[in-house]
Amino acid sequence: MIERPTVTRTTTHVGGERIIATEPATGVHPHPSQKGAIVPFKGVTKALLEDDSVVWLCDGVPGQFCPFVGNSTKSVVAHRNGTHNLRQPRRASRYSDAVLRRIAQEVAIARQAGSKDFAVRAAQALNDAGLQTLRGELWTGSMVSSVFNAHAKHIRVRIPPRDRPATTTQRAAARVRAASNGSAVLEPDDLTVLRQFVVIVPRLAQALARVADFIEAGQGVDAAMADKARRYDELQALLK
Ligand SMILES: [Zn+2]
Repeated sequence: MIERPTVTRTTTHVGGERIIATEPATGVHPHPSQKGAIVPFKGVTKALLEDDSVVWLCDGVPGQFCPFVGNSTKSVVAHRNGTHNLRQPRRASRYSDAVLRRIAQEVAIARQAGSKDFAVRAAQALNDAGLQTLRGELWTGSMVSSVFNAHAKHIRVRIPPRDRPATTTQRAAARVRAASNGSAVLEPDDLTVLRQFVVIVPRLAQALARVADFIEAGQGVDAAMADKARRYDELQALLK
């Protein structure tokens, strides 16, 4: 019976020089947040040759030998990212899921509105909503783009229907909200109307009550109408 040998290829010589020592390669961590920390790089080996020169070797990928020799950790990392198409695991975002979802939603809304500067519009919406970046700054278009592309573009969001022009009632409600927030949006005319309304409502209630009494006493015909008028009166009493 013939046993098939298991062959593991490794580099023993580089440029004719024998490798006399190896160690895990180190380099500057690529992320600015690490402030230039020197860290080991997976898949890269630093090798000392017999002639005292130093080279950096690619470790290949599992089951695949690679003959690449570089002149720095960085050069081998670049080679590995390109040649071996190594997927970098997605770095988790420091933003909460809720914030990422909101970013995805605002971008979707701005895109739906057909804006070319959708990132800028989304940033504006986030700022309007009182959200801040991790550094406590206002959102900018480029910040939104960067977080969206890295962490939020895969999030599926529901987009509210396109904005319709606000109705008069909605505009009035918005004004009242603004007024209650202390903003001086309420115009003098509005105030006059409000004052008149306050005066008119009790009079209207009294008039309706009299109508109800009249109907009830006089004819007793339309009991339903009388009932409605009375309820209106009760409602007004509650509102006072
Ligand atoms: Zn390689």
